[in-house]
Amino acid sequence: MVRVGFYDDPAFREHDAGLGHPERPERVDALVGGLADAGLADALTRFPARPATSAELLRVHTEEHVARVASSRGRTLRFDPDTQAGPRSYEAALLAAGAVADAVDRVLEGEIDRALLAVRPPGHHALADRAMGFCLFNNVAVGAAHALFRGLARVMIVDFDVHHGNGTQDIFYDDPRVLYLSSHAFPFYPGTGSLDEVGEGRGHGFTVNLPMPAGLGDEDYARVYREIAEPIGRAFDPELVLVSAGFDAHRGDPLAGMDLTRRGYAELTEVCLAVAGGAARGRTVVALEGGYRLDAIAQAGAAVAEGLLGRGPAPLAWPSAGRIDPLLDAYRETYRPFWPCLAG
Ligand SMILES: [Zn+2]
Repeated sequence: MVRVGFYDDPAFREHDAGLGHPERPERVDALVGGLADAGLADALTRFPARPATSAELLRVHTEEHVARVASSRGRTLRFDPDTQAGPRSYEAALLAAGAVADAVDRVLEGEIDRALLAVRPPGHHALADRAMGFCLFNNVAVGAAHALFRGLARVMIVDFDVHHGNGTQDIFYDDPRVLYLSSHAFPFYPGTGSLDEVGEGRGHGFTVNLPMPAGLGDEDYARVYREIAEPIGRAFDPELVLVSAGFDAHRGDPLAGMDLTRRGYAELTEVCLAVAGGAARGRTVVALEGGYRLDAIAQAGAAVAEGLLGRGPAPLAWPSAGRIDPLLDAYRETYRPFWPCLAG
């Protein structure tokens, strides 16, 4: 039986991004409620979040950035027009990053196989030296760096949030030990994530961006993930898969224009698990990023949890040709030099 951990903490609801901000505490309740409604809550093992240590944060952030976020304690501090910390946000951000590191510890120690984390604030836009795009600390990057620190040689980050995870990309841009793969709307916030961005130096080829036009749905995403992400991931053969799980590519999300449904998120989860089926021996840690429609977070979150628990729907036979063929050709042309598995 697959053992799946679940992380939640009251502090994740105490991060105040600002009045009327779409990144609101109810998002965590939506995810938790979706798991309960789907009858999954009892199948998950709950763990408390613990704060990230300063050593863990400093693996991916500068001292100045950590100090600046810490200085928001007890007050409101605005980092950019979209991103602010309230009086309890520093504590929440520490716990969000620490929860990912804790989940990495537990899966590496074999206590659990997989984990799902209902964390706030999100992380994937946070740069080494700057808060950005609702994100204070880069939770998943802290988790990946922690796994490397613990001796892993290959970690893959799959980021299916509808926005490009510019912070995560930037932190590992020249690092061949971390394969960062992102599907995202493009052009769109934050403006990065084009096919020209493939990593640099020794990390050349270890950043895989899959920019997408708006309006893609389950079938399109399934093809992108089955035909591009899965072969690259299997070829890299990570020892751990981390997932930046944003649910803002869901149909009806107020910030974006993609058309995924619960079925599509089930498919994305299956691809992440397939990639984790080699050297990772199933080890997969999934952290909440964006997603601003509450019922979509509930539905899509439940689909991800079902997948992690090995209770996902039977695979569908997705079409092998369609409107996104030119897009897939562009991906293959860009990444075939690095990943010969994409030939043919
Ligand atoms: Zn997003």
